Amino acid sequence: VPFDQLDGEIWMNGSFVPWKDAKIHVLTHGLHYASSVFEGERAYGGEVFKLREHTDRLIESGRILGFEIPYSADEIDAATTELLKRQGFADAYIRPIAWRGSEMMGVSAQKNRINVAIAAWVWPSYFDPEQRMKGIRLDLAQYRRPDPMTAPSRAKAAGLYMICTISKHAAEAKGYADAMMLDWRGRVAEATGANIFFVKDGAIHTPDPDCFLNGITRQTVIGLARRRGIEVIERAIMPEELSGFSECFICGTAAEVTPVAEIADWRFTPGDITRRLVEDYAAEVQPKRAAAE
Ligand code: PMP
Repeated sequence: VPFDQLDGEIWMNGSFVPWKDAKIHVLTHGLHYASSVFEGERAYGGEVFKLREHTDRLIESGRILGFEIPYSADEIDAATTELLKRQGFADAYIRPIAWRGSEMMGVSAQKNRINVAIAAWVWPSYFDPEQRMKGIRLDLAQYRRPDPMTAPSRAKAAGLYMICTISKHAAEAKGYADAMMLDWRGRVAEATGANIFFVKDGAIHTPDPDCFLNGITRQTVIGLARRRGIEVIERAIMPEELSGFSECFICGTAAEVTPVAEIADWRFTPGDITRRLVEDYAAEVQPKRAAAE
């Protein structure tokens, strides 16, 4: 079944519409000029993990692109919760998106309405579950994360994903699951939709998020590692250093914590630290209310 033909409902500009009817016009500014920002969230046991952080980032992404989302964080959160209930999902992936509409055509979009939609679907595993615990294989991407002087790298903006799709498709064509991207300086940056971590001598090393998303999962995982007494070093990492790391994993809302076995010619063996963080993250995302009752 094509994705736009599923059953259920999508929240769109303040009301719930049948999934198949959640449409836009071809002259939508967001489509032509990438004036669109979005989020990726996961619900576990009926509760969205760090919902408010995601909603705040959505609103901030819009601001970075120069527009005000016409709903408050409380309204977006309430719509998300209601959508999950109406869809009957306990565990789901949630995609809020905001974009400039079709009232004017041209680069300037002064009169274009800001539209907002929220969709939710069941997306159990971002990567092949069989490959997942053995460690996925990444290629090295051709494109680099842009200089923050070149693109609004702190926004989760649709336009920044153009190079991600190109890179991911090129990797998939060679049999890889995903690609690792360097940044504009040639430093290790991230995967096409997840942040990256390495392990060396019992410590975790991860790139400074100075030109890509400081993922909500990334921040969660750093907290979990430190709670375990594992040292986490955020620093510039050059690709030549990859041969000195024993473990590697990526993390993001969709990917959760996913071990990595290969990046191009570099090899890693998912070990104790990766395994522990996979487990700690899985425990952390579960609703806390059960423990309180
Ligand atoms: N980087 C990119 C390019 C992403 O698309 C994502 C997923 N949103 C992340 C990092 C991780 O962010 P988060 O943990 O907030 O989902």
